[in-house]
Amino acid sequence: MTGIHSDALGLYISIPFCRSKCTYCNFASGVYPASEHARYVHRLIEDIHASRAWAARMGVELPRLVDTVYLGGGTPSLLAPDLLASLFAAIRAGFSLAPDAEITVECAPGQLAGETLAALVAAGVNRVSLGVQSFIDREAAVSGRLHSRAAVLDDLRRLRASAIANLSVDLIAGLPDQTFASWQESLAVLIESGVPHASVYMLEVDEDSRLGREMLAQGSRYHAGLVPSDDAIAQMYSFAIETLSRAGLAQYEISNFCRPGFASRHNLRYWKRRPYLGLGLDASSMLRAQQTKRLSPANWMGAPGLAFETWESTSSYILRSTTTDDLAAFLENAEPAETAWLSPARQHEEAWFLGLRMNAGVSVAELVREFGSGTVAPALKSVARLVEAGLVISDGETVRLTPQGQLLSNDVFQEFLDLAPEEDRARMETPA
Ligand code: SF4
Repeated sequence: MTGIHSDALGLYISIPFCRSKCTYCNFASGVYPASEHARYVHRLIEDIHASRAWAARMGVELPRLVDTVYLGGGTPSLLAPDLLASLFAAIRAGFSLAPDAEITVECAPGQLAGETLAALVAAGVNRVSLGVQSFIDREAAVSGRLHSRAAVLDDLRRLRASAIANLSVDLIAGLPDQTFASWQESLAVLIESGVPHASVYMLEVDEDSRLGREMLAQGSRYHAGLVPSDDAIAQMYSFAIETLSRAGLAQYEISNFCRPGFASRHNLRYWKRRPYLGLGLDASSMLRAQQTKRLSPANWMGAPGLAFETWESTSSYILRSTTTDDLAAFLENAEPAETAWLSPARQHEEAWFLGLRMNAGVSVAELVREFGSGTVAPALKSVARLVEAGLVISDGETVRLTPQGQLLSNDVFQEFLDLAPEEDRARMETPA
């Protein structure tokens, strides 16, 4: 695997279509007719073409070179082959794809038609992430997944046969009906399959999902009563870290594991705060720009009649997020995203909670270089409190989560919010 190009962009494209809705899911995804797929892809193509002009209006020069592309969702592999081909043609027309670009598509097991696979290969896709969640057929079915273990293994075989060998499998710890023994079995099948990358998530049930509503109402249709306890889920997650690491899939981020050279280059972008452009429903972007601010309109320097304006030019971050998670509203909206500049204080907070997700941790010296010691000092007080609580370790240079800190990561990240006064943390709205 080669590295990320320092001046290149990552492209995220959201495809919010699924064949059925999983019981625990509350993503902006749903089951829609093929006519909506076509309308949506046409809209994405328009947005790809318009993205450079949009960025220029914001003072951002969008890099032409793209070295990671990620089609996520939803289930991007549900798109018809001609729509996939049109989408990739638009990406290649709007950007220059690096010859070694990592191009990932998320697929649902058992739903990868032969002609779709051929379209992915023709489009240059070289990485596939399969949303398996469980290799135990009953657990998959109870959660609304439509595949069997045999279908997953067959997809992996077909992907490899078509020369897509950079494969990732997602598992979820804590599905209804899952036991420690069945979790061990899912992990064993994953390891046996030989995939070089795995993502393992602890089930977090959104209360607006069908399963979440049922858990609140204590119903039984979606087997809410069979969701393992928080302690059992934590035990499964810790077991996964040990087992996968023993099998050569080392943890490199809270939920991600890989063999050497197979870390997701696209996802590393998010945690390392490298620029990416997100398009589509529920997508966000983070781009760097030079922001020029007038500090004082006129600064009299003694000599009457001589006025000096002072300006400050800083490298800043611009964040763009879709304003709606409703497909119809998205398709009808001419400008479906809002944009804001992130203040340095907000960027500093993000540097902590994104950086700590990675096992490599956060380099204090790098943050001091970027934000100044005055900004970093309050965070180091948080670090000292977290070291005492056993949630992070620090050798004075690098700060990392402990295994307990990984289990309680949301509590740890909370410590790095609100470090600066509210007025410094506020997003700076983009000037019109
Ligand atoms: S396939 Fe993924 S996005 Fe679609 S419903 Fe299931 S969890 Fe949600």
